[in-house]
Amino acid sequence: MPEQSKAPSELQYIKGIGPKRAEVLAQFGIHSLFDLLNFYPRRYIDRSKIIPLDQLQPDQEVTVIGKIEATGVRRFRRPIFYIVISDETGIMEAVWFNSANYFKKLFKVGEWISLSGKVHFYRGFQMQHPDFDRLGEGDISKLLHTGKILPLYPGNDAFKKVGLNSYTFRRIFSGLLEKPDILPQEIFNEQLFSRHHFLPRQEAFRQIHLPRENELLEKALYRLKYEEFFFPQLMLALQHRHRKEKPIGIAFTEKSSRLNALYKSLPFDLTRAQKKVMHEIRQDMRSAAPMNRLLQGDVGSGKTLVAVMAMLIAVDNGKQAALMVPTEILAEQHFINISKLLKPLKVPLSLLTGSTKSAIRKQLKEELNSAQPHIVIGTHALIQDAVGFKNLGLIVIDEQHRFGVMQRGKLIEKGLYADVLVMTATPIPRTLALTVYGSLDVSVLDEMPANRQPVTTVWRFDNKAAEIYKFIMENILKGRQAYIVYPLVEESEKLDLKAATEGFEFLSKGPFKDFKVGLLHGRLKAAEKDRIMQLFVKNRIHILVSTTVIEVGVDVPNATIMVIEHAERFGLSQLHQLRGRVGRGEHKSYCVLKTPYNIGEIAQQRIKIMTETQDGFLIAERDLELRGWGDFFGTKQSGMPDFKLANPITDRPILEDARSDAYHLVGEDAFLRKPENKALNAYLRTHLADRLQLFTIS
Ligand code: ADP
Ligand code: MG
Repeated sequence: MPEQSKAPSELQYIKGIGPKRAEVLAQFGIHSLFDLLNFYPRRYIDRSKIIPLDQLQPDQEVTVIGKIEATGVRRFRRPIFYIVISDETGIMEAVWFNSANYFKKLFKVGEWISLSGKVHFYRGFQMQHPDFDRLGEGDISKLLHTGKILPLYPGNDAFKKVGLNSYTFRRIFSGLLEKPDILPQEIFNEQLFSRHHFLPRQEAFRQIHLPRENELLEKALYRLKYEEFFFPQLMLALQHRHRKEKPIGIAFTEKSSRLNALYKSLPFDLTRAQKKVMHEIRQDMRSAAPMNRLLQGDVGSGKTLVAVMAMLIAVDNGKQAALMVPTEILAEQHFINISKLLKPLKVPLSLLTGSTKSAIRKQLKEELNSAQPHIVIGTHALIQDAVGFKNLGLIVIDEQHRFGVMQRGKLIEKGLYADVLVMTATPIPRTLALTVYGSLDVSVLDEMPANRQPVTTVWRFDNKAAEIYKFIMENILKGRQAYIVYPLVEESEKLDLKAATEGFEFLSKGPFKDFKVGLLHGRLKAAEKDRIMQLFVKNRIHILVSTTVIEVGVDVPNATIMVIEHAERFGLSQLHQLRGRVGRGEHKSYCVLKTPYNIGEIAQQRIKIMTETQDGFLIAERDLELRGWGDFFGTKQSGMPDFKLANPITDRPILEDARSDAYHLVGEDAFLRKPENKALNAYLRTHLADRLQLFTIS
């Protein structure tokens, strides 16, 4: 039997493709006509905006296209890299005053290139440091004669070998798009269609590949971006609706006496936001539909307490509850704090991490197997070795962004149909949260406990170290404590970083030799980590030198100074999380972002934002802008939606429309059975069948 992957794809019969090209396309995941139509241009050139080289004028900002005729380096104090390009009308030079070696490798004679910049006259026309786009070899001159707006397709060596380039793609699509009968049919119902003034589907594909004018191209982009957002949202809307309608969860109906006792024992009142969120959680838990709720709240907004209260509801209803956190240190911290909180309430409480001794693990398993109410705090170990909960009612997942989104699926695989509360300290705009975290309901802790003080945040260069150390000393003498955070454990990656171990050696023998300095990093044994944390909690260690293992959750209110070494190496959200370790008590707190003198533009922006705001929402949003969608969420690893045309950040209004449309549609037609939604239903079945398993559309 021939292998699946060697089966000839339908594409080979399309004019201009044939078996060889079809095979190469298949290597890149393009198997069907639909895949091909979704292989979008990477950019467009508007030919009307291109200036022929014989019409250049000095001091104009223009875009030109030409073939590279020569490249070279001129010596002039520093090496200057130049290229000469030509079109049918003339020639021009472009020069770069630095990185000659880099450019020498980049540009090849014979390749076509577009250059944008200001024209100078210096022994002929010249651009200095223009923006450029390499257009590929050979094809562009032919492409230039074909239309007004020219689509440029992504290229690679395999494509090149079989002659697939922007010109041949244009020919393939020209043939293809003339055949309306084989092209995808309309899928949206009349109402949706007219509300958005969509281009008809076939026309959208035509314009994206063979654009006639900018306005139509824009409309095509709008329609196809909308589709990219709409389908994931529709899936979520369906999931959401069907979850709510299937009462397969647990209804926690008993009044929680322990919760009330805890509430009365607190030395402070809950914030308004905590009360609101508890109300939402209680309602979810009371209902027989399984809870699936995301709790967003900035560092220090009091999420842990909310989690504890929810777990008490479960326990008072005779169920087991689990709190899952990303690191052992955090699990231990939570365990200690929650033990204190729950001591008077006599709730069975256990800790389970990767380094829990097997005897204890065994005993815990037995207890859980007895179905007795119990709260377990732990790391991934909780679900990884299926601890054998007999009676799990609620699972709380803390710092969700560090787990990825698929964990709930894993829980269900293990047969755990508990209510789920996921908590994150990376608050992101609601619509984005819903795109990322699936069909969850969202609660927000948008208020800090009243006793919080702002953390004064400053940026200091490395040459100010002595002053920083002096400042730390003064504060230690007043009874306070400090964190000093380094980015790496060892100089393993040959990066010129001061590792935490080195920093520790230096600090404990040098500037802070009269104080107690501790070192904490991920490679220490759990018992050792625990010992050091306990010493720090008791103020027997004054300065904790650490890697980012303290990033989440650690709570030592007496620590009021956070120094972050090489702050330029950290992401914005990470800096914010780290800063969240201070400013937790009654004393004034400080965060010092320490960097070398010369750091990159983006790093500068990150650090500036940190010094300007403490609003986690704003910081997350800026982080998202600076890093982009894929990087921020690590879409590739985490299985979050990725988009080809649409950008969830810049196209957010479209995303929001698509989302509300999808929910509206499902509200009106839960199973997509109405005649006007027949096409849509069929589309889901063909293109998204693999994702339909969680519910049924019959
Ligand atoms: P998060 O997990 O959201 O970062 P925590 O739950 O760790 O925040 O809370 C930080 C600190 O604030 C803890 O010491 C907690 O006891 C305290 N806290 C929680 N809620 C309140 C409140 N309503 N008023 C005062 N302090 C609170
Ligand atoms: Mg927390």
